[in-house]
Amino acid sequence: MKRKLRQVRGMGRGCMLMLGIACMAGFGACGMGKTADGNADDAVWAQSVDTAMGTIVTQRLDAGDRGEEFTEQIIKEITDLEEDTLSWRLESAEIYRINHGAGAAVSKADSGTDFTVEVSEELGEILEICLELAKGSHGALDITIGEVTRLWSIDALAVMEQQDLTGDELPTEKEIAACLEETGYEKLSLKGQQLVMEAGVQLDLGAVGKGVALDRICSFLEQQEEVQGAVISVGGSILTYGEKRSGEPWIVAVTNPFDTSQTIGYLTLQGQWCVSTSGDYERYVEIDGTRYHHIIDPHTGYPADSDVRSVTILTKDGLLSDALSTACFVLGEEAGKRLAQSYGVEALFVDKEGKITMTEGMKDYFQRK
Ligand code: AMP
Ligand code: MG
Repeated sequence: MKRKLRQVRGMGRGCMLMLGIACMAGFGACGMGKTADGNADDAVWAQSVDTAMGTIVTQRLDAGDRGEEFTEQIIKEITDLEEDTLSWRLESAEIYRINHGAGAAVSKADSGTDFTVEVSEELGEILEICLELAKGSHGALDITIGEVTRLWSIDALAVMEQQDLTGDELPTEKEIAACLEETGYEKLSLKGQQLVMEAGVQLDLGAVGKGVALDRICSFLEQQEEVQGAVISVGGSILTYGEKRSGEPWIVAVTNPFDTSQTIGYLTLQGQWCVSTSGDYERYVEIDGTRYHHIIDPHTGYPADSDVRSVTILTKDGLLSDALSTACFVLGEEAGKRLAQSYGVEALFVDKEGKITMTEGMKDYFQRK
């Protein structure tokens, strides 16, 4: 089955939506259970908060008696995707096997050698889109960034006590330069399901994984006729699906990057959408007043230092929303906006001074707090 982008290219300004105040669609609810959703709505919401794909997955799903069952199946879908395909940590995953096969330690000696690996149809389709986006973003999104992200290991640093960090834990310029030698989307090409890859390259699909998960979840929901509506977040990526029985819109809050306990506003959405945010507040360490975060500029090998602190992308397609939020973060506001427009998606930027700017079409959905 050919993976199709849910995005309708050049969608331009969407239909005008009535912006109404409503509370966030049930996020923050803990544990599994069923709740009535207020007086105006006879929906039965199954709610759950779990961990999958190394992140928090929050679900709120209206599917009558089957809601709870579906939330469990959705967690399984995400876990399978991670375990079978996307993980670079789990031996069972295709990406792990590719990194430890074609891109493996043989690399340095074999530098310049090409390896060919047969990939699954699903991974082939994901990689094809990632490569197209890498070209389209002039390398701002680059899934060959694995050597560099592993060198930085921001997650590992983040679990250390921040006050104990001296700066010696950070990679040196020399180490970064060496990893950049093994980085570059031009080192990859696809011929159908044949992936040709230069030795030493390490893939990292962290920038798109949550979006791919949203696409999987969306396909799952489409197959369940009991599902009336759902809002599901996988880390910084959120899927809205179907409708609330009350007819009210979905409300998706946008985090304030200067104070992550606060929001800067919210999107008002009807039906199926994907919203992904990339920000420097998600995973980072601070040493001597400098923030080292998890989004790398593939041209420098250092955490991207553009003019933005967060980028939110709104589109129908999960992979596209996730990939473009990362790419636009690296590119910054001006080039990021151009990239978003070229893909017909809406984008919202919060810059380092806290100024909010957005594409014209985003104004139809975003309400400032
Ligand atoms: P996101 O939070 O969606 O912006 O994705 C960030 C994750 O993607 C990081 O934790 C890395 O695993 C990976 N990554 C970081 N920088 C890049 C980049 N420029 N291109 C592709 N992947 C990246
Ligand atoms: Mg992303």
